[in-house]
Amino acid sequence: MSIDVSGKKIIPIVSGGIDSTAMLWYLKSKGAQIIEALTFNYGQRHRREIDQAQAIVQRFNVAFSEEVRHKIIDMSFLKELIATGALVGEEDVPHEMYDSETQRVTIVPNRNMIMLSVAAGRAVTLKADLVAYAAHASDYEVYPDCRPEFVEAMDEALRLGNLWTPVGIVAPFVRITKAEIVKLGIELNVPFEETWSCYEGGERPCLECGTCLERTEAFLLNNARDPALREEEWGIAVKMLEKHKKREEKNNE
Ligand SMILES: [Zn+2]
Repeated sequence: MSIDVSGKKIIPIVSGGIDSTAMLWYLKSKGAQIIEALTFNYGQRHRREIDQAQAIVQRFNVAFSEEVRHKIIDMSFLKELIATGALVGEEDVPHEMYDSETQRVTIVPNRNMIMLSVAAGRAVTLKADLVAYAAHASDYEVYPDCRPEFVEAMDEALRLGNLWTPVGIVAPFVRITKAEIVKLGIELNVPFEETWSCYEGGERPCLECGTCLERTEAFLLNNARDPALREEEWGIAVKMLEKHKKREEKNNE
């Protein structure tokens, strides 16, 4: 995996999760110039992700002596217009392995296209070269707007739609898995302890929703422990993963 972003002015979309946090550190390591970080509030059930995104941008600024602005874009109107499903509170968050069919209730229709369009407009305004988002290979099965074909088509559309002030899209992780992102992040000293993945939005991660399970698996595959969890929580998280993997194997028999 290698992308040329050296010297490029980039507007990253950060969510407060593992992927976009690792992306921020990765882009910096490749010599990109981060102009402004954007976080979208699309009517998530909880503010937790947004608060973590804010903390992560602060950590980034401290780590690299930067002054990157963090802008929260309120798109909570989406909740009323188009968003049905678990992430905005209409349905229960599935407690199943991430790749299963049931995870589809967490789709917010056309979300990435909407976010990328707004971010691209912001990029033109700030004279940035690229918008970055952290689509990755583990998301293909559930979310079509995380696939390479979508990224390429969107990049092309944005370039055509802004011909006099070209802006493109970079999705550096589009061909790697979540476990590979964690590996890269560990190498880059990404503060994963600040990240938040749980869809339930309690005080502490539930350890049993699709994203909690996926997260636990990604750290385990690296023989690492999730630094966001207390020791006893990590023990429970590993047990939860085992339980759900067994259940999934049974279902596939
Ligand atoms: Zn959870």
